Amino acid sequence: MTSLAVRLASGVAPGAAGRPPDPLAVLLTTLDELETLSRFDSEPAAARAGDAAAAARELGRPDLEQRALLAGADVLRRRGSVAEAGRIAHDVHRWATEARSRHLIARSSFVLTAVFQELGDLAGALEHAVQSVDLLDDDTLPALRVDHLVRLADVLGLSRDPAAPERYATVLRLAEDLGDVDRQLRILNNRAYTDTLAGRFADALHFSTRLQDLASAQGIPLDVGRLDTVARALMGLDRLDEAEAALTPGLAPEVLGSSHDGDAGADFLLTLAEVQRRRGAVDAAQTTLDECVRRCVEHGLTSIRVRARAEQAELHAAAGDHRAAFEEHKRYCAELVEQQSAQRDSRARAMQAIYETTEARRQSRRWRELSLRDPLTGLHNRRHVDDELPRALADGAQVWVALLDLDHFKRVNDTCSHAVGDEVLRAVAGLLQAQAAPGTGSLVARLGGEEFLLVFAGVDAETAAAHLEQVRSAVAGHPWAPLTGDLPVTVSIGAASTADVPDRTTAQLLGRADARLYRAKRGGRDRVVLVD
Ligand code: GH3
Ligand code: MG
Ligand code: MG
Repeated sequence: MTSLAVRLASGVAPGAAGRPPDPLAVLLTTLDELETLSRFDSEPAAARAGDAAAAARELGRPDLEQRALLAGADVLRRRGSVAEAGRIAHDVHRWATEARSRHLIARSSFVLTAVFQELGDLAGALEHAVQSVDLLDDDTLPALRVDHLVRLADVLGLSRDPAAPERYATVLRLAEDLGDVDRQLRILNNRAYTDTLAGRFADALHFSTRLQDLASAQGIPLDVGRLDTVARALMGLDRLDEAEAALTPGLAPEVLGSSHDGDAGADFLLTLAEVQRRRGAVDAAQTTLDECVRRCVEHGLTSIRVRARAEQAELHAAAGDHRAAFEEHKRYCAELVEQQSAQRDSRARAMQAIYETTEARRQSRRWRELSLRDPLTGLHNRRHVDDELPRALADGAQVWVALLDLDHFKRVNDTCSHAVGDEVLRAVAGLLQAQAAPGTGSLVARLGGEEFLLVFAGVDAETAAAHLEQVRSAVAGHPWAPLTGDLPVTVSIGAASTADVPDRTTAQLLGRADARLYRAKRGGRDRVVLVD
């Protein structure tokens, strides 16, 4: 069977003559391409992202697998599966955060920016956009840097933030230095569009004109979305004839017909209808609006359909039919409310899908964490010790373990009550935690009943003895009277270190400590024993 990594190669970088291509190099090239292509067909891109993820798995590179998954998520988003894209991007983001992979955090934030933007959460989008720019490495591909900077500028622009124009100016210079025409066109378009949104029509027109000039100098026809940007800027300045003239190239069947994006075509027609109406060409406007509505119905474009109702009401009014205008306006208001609540619902569902897996994981982490704790005292339990102690012993340092057993604890239960006994156990746990152990890797656990364990490392016998003596006297000296009356509460401690046993095993170490605990009990209790 051909490995996926090699299969990928057939479409990408051929190896030097006669030699099979290096699968890792091929994978890296594929990922770079998927991440930087400014225009691509989503079908092959989705398949390539899927193959790249499988190839990365085969090569044992989880980091590259995550990159490929993220590229796949971005394709999904462009196809309209925003919630699913968000869920994957969020998972990758979490993986990247745990793995401390800056580049991947930046990349997943980049995708999440678009997801949140499309879900109408501009605050969430801005947070990710800032992170996606801040965490870019110096050696990031320039095209990627441009993409991240543009997206940040877009979010600022859509938020009508006054910092947006400066951001666009900076990234436009970068794209010009790169000689990247596609990206320059995108930046000019987005700049003009957000200027119009903010009511800066003169600026919008300036950048629209640059957009037109650059496109025509490069022989690239503007698509309907960009023509719409130009016309909106002109409309803002009441230059209606020029606005209509600017839109005209979009009516050519090869432009309007080729727009795969149903949205852009319908949006374009709605703008044209508005221009025509405002110029007094009511019949032409009605024809255009009818075509717009037809597309809305065909492609299920609810939000443009609703806006088309508002335009229809204006058109009725312009034709002098005020009754029809009123009826249409009422329908517009009703549908707007309906649409907004549907949007809220779908946004809520999308957000839930994005956070669902994280929440499930957080829950299971929490369960795991709880399963390693003793419910009465909140200290770690024996299972945690079984996990951790071998790990502590794997390292070369001198490790100390101390077993503590409460003295005559039965008496507390019998004389006071089991509930008071529980309180005493909790108080002792608190005292043990409060006595910061010397050295490193300290651990306090309740092994069961009235028996506790202390672990610490990297100190000599003298320091260990001083610490344990301090622990013993902290328990003995605690004001117990309010809890136990006349009954004293004390502990016996037996301790051993890795220097005391032939092998660094848990069993030997605990066995030696237990033997010394027994000696402490036999010796009269309330004492520490560190030798045999
Ligand atoms: P020694 O000094 O020899 O250790 O005497 P002792 O009474 O502490 O030892 P023994 O092992 O005979 O008794 C331990 C008691 O600890 C018996 C048991 O009822 C009590 N105990 C164990 N777990 C708990 C608990 O979770 N809560 C309470 N209140 N008591 C507990
Ligand atoms: Mg005991
Ligand atoms: Mg005891």
